[in-house]
Formats: sequence, structure tokens, C-alpha cells
Amino acid sequence: MLTTAEAKPDTSHLGFTSVPHPAPTSAEVREKVLAAPGFGTNFSDHMISIDWAEDLGWHNATLGPRGPIALDPAAAVLHYAQEIFEGLKAYKTEDGGIALFRPEANAARFNASARRLAMPELPEAVFVDAVRQLVLADRDWLPGGEGASLYLRPFMIATEAFLGVRPAKAYKFLVIASPAGNYFKSGAPAVSIWISDYTRAAPGGTGAAKCGGNYAASLVPTAEAFARGHDQVLFLDAAEHKWVEELGGMNLYFVFADGTLLTPALTGTILPGITRDSLLALARDEGLAVREDRYSIDQWRDDAASGRLVEVFACGTAAVVTPVGKVCGAEGEFLVGAGGPGQVTQRLKERLVAIQRGQAPDPHGWMTRLA
Ligand SMILES: *Cc1c(COP(=O)(O)O)cnc(C)c1O
Repeated sequence: MLTTAEAKPDTSHLGFTSVPHPAPTSAEVREKVLAAPGFGTNFSDHMISIDWAEDLGWHNATLGPRGPIALDPAAAVLHYAQEIFEGLKAYKTEDGGIALFRPEANAARFNASARRLAMPELPEAVFVDAVRQLVLADRDWLPGGEGASLYLRPFMIATEAFLGVRPAKAYKFLVIASPAGNYFKSGAPAVSIWISDYTRAAPGGTGAAKCGGNYAASLVPTAEAFARGHDQVLFLDAAEHKWVEELGGMNLYFVFADGTLLTPALTGTILPGITRDSLLALARDEGLAVREDRYSIDQWRDDAASGRLVEVFACGTAAVVTPVGKVCGAEGEFLVGAGGPGQVTQRLKERLVAIQRGQAPDPHGWMTRLA
């Protein structure tokens, strides 16, 4: 028999209260924003908010006007960084509809992050429903045009006012939306990357969780890479400072002359990217041999020099696929490929984008139609 403490309300399908924005952005202003949305600086009119408390579980599910949130200055997130987030996109499809790409994968990863940060899990159906409700409410904020999308940012913060160090007893889940343009206008240029002496994630740490704290720690290494004239920062493993892990907030792929692909294996210090996972599947569909394994920076340098390695690219939701052209570190620099996107990089990117845009069949059932 359940005790009262265990008899939590079933919140697997929350009803959302809808509060329309009293003064939404005018069509004129919105169209101006959508003509050049940039990335992450403009936001739609509404947001999703759901609260969690020990006794109530998830409650107060609201689709309401986007605006500041009140927090007690002692809210745990402000002191001990108990925060996790996700990033996914809604796309305009070829036939004028709207679709999400693998939102249930984001929901599952969100809960994996929640477990690592000692936060409550949100039922996957509620996560996907929250994103759906926001996109439909703000569908006019979805930019048209090649490479454009509505970027969605679900996140969760610890709101309990308490300065002791333990998991908080109150949380807020929010989703906001930001129109995003094409990351690279025409054909991604190959980036120059800096091998950082800093590390992003240690064994047993939070590298596999999508938490803000990982990003806070990456700001100095990233700024250092920029200051040295590079576009991105390469993180090696923390224990041996030898194995290639991630490029900023993106996963890496290596393409060899014999047609095989390699991506660093998910060792617990690498964020399991959904783009990474999707490209694994698409490469296998194409009959390419893909390995998940360790790859050292020394091997990378040798393989680039011998011509065995022909293409390198990074991948993630924001930029989809970014070719890597030049690798620099304290011990010098070397080049990969011809300085632009290689053939395999380009083909995999086109295949992925075509599925996301509804221009190609979706054999893995990745798309969720919203309209
Ligand atoms: C989000 C993220 C990625 C990419 O994940 P996607 O699901 O493909 O967007 C890669 N590395 C880090 C550190 C990330 O936070």
C-alpha cells in the first residue's frame, strides 16, 4: 500500500493553463527581427513554466507571456549552479508545416542530466508537450528561409531559498524560444581550432550532463582560443590530456581516406549529442563504416600529415555541421583537408538537413509534426 508521501499526483500529462500575451510584439517589429534573426538575441512572446515541489510534484504548468522570473536571492541555482538545459529546433517544412527533430531524445537526455544534478525528472511526454505548446503559440516567430529555425531552450533551475549544500526541494522548468538564422550563410567555412590546456570534463564529473556549469568553465578556454585568433576550442581528456573529446559545445567526426568514419566514444566525459547520434545512423545508412573509439591528438596530427585523414567536422544542433580546417596548439599547427567542407561532411549534412526540412524520407521516424 502507498503511504501518502508516496502517493504523488500523476503528472505524466499535465494540463497547461494558457495566458495569452497582453501586448504581443507587433507584426511589423517581428518581421524586422525575422529578416535577420541572428542567434540567441531575439525571443518570441511566450514561455512555458512548470513548478516542482516535494509534496506536489510537477504543477502550475503555464503557457504565458515571456518575462522576468522572480527568484529569492538565496535560490539554490544562484549559489550552487543546480541548472540543466536542452537545445532543439522547430523547422518549417517543405510543405509549409512545422516539425521538431527528435524532441523525445532531448527529453531523455534532459532527464539523464537531471539525475546527474540531483534534480527531479520531467516526464518525457510533458517535455515534448511543453515544447509543442510554445511552438504552436509562437508559430509566427518561425523564420522562413534556408537554414532558419525557431531555437528552443528548455531548462530547469533550483528555486528553493536555502544556502545549505544538498539537492533543492523546489524547481522551475521553463521553455523559451528564439528565432535563429542560418549559422553560415552559404557553405560553412572550415574553422581554425585551438588545443586548450584547460579541460572541460573530468572522469566522474558532469561532462555528459548538459548543465550550465560546464559552459561557465569553458568560457576562459574559449576566450583564449578567440584571443589567439581561432574560431573554436578543442578539449582533450582531463586524465592524460591526449584523447580528443569535444570542440566547444560540439561533437567531433573524423573521415579517413579509406572511407571510414570515427567519432570519440561516449566515455562519460563527452556530451552525447543528438546530432552526433543522428549522423552515426545516417553514415551507417550510407554503408560507411563508423567507429566509436578513442582518438589521440598525436594520431590526428600523424594522420593529417600522411593523408590518411581527409576530413574533420564538428556537429551540434546550433550549427549542424562545421568543418575543421586548421589545428593549432602550443606545439605548432597542422592542416586537415582542403580548407572547406569535404565531400563526406557535405553529403551527411545535406542528408540530415533534408530530413529536418521534410525534403527527404524520414526512415528513422525522427520528425514530430506539430502542424
Ligand atoms: C549540446 C551539446 C552538444 C551537441 O548536442 P546536440 O544534441 O547535437 O545539439 C555537444 N557538446 C556539448 C558540450 C553540448 O552541450
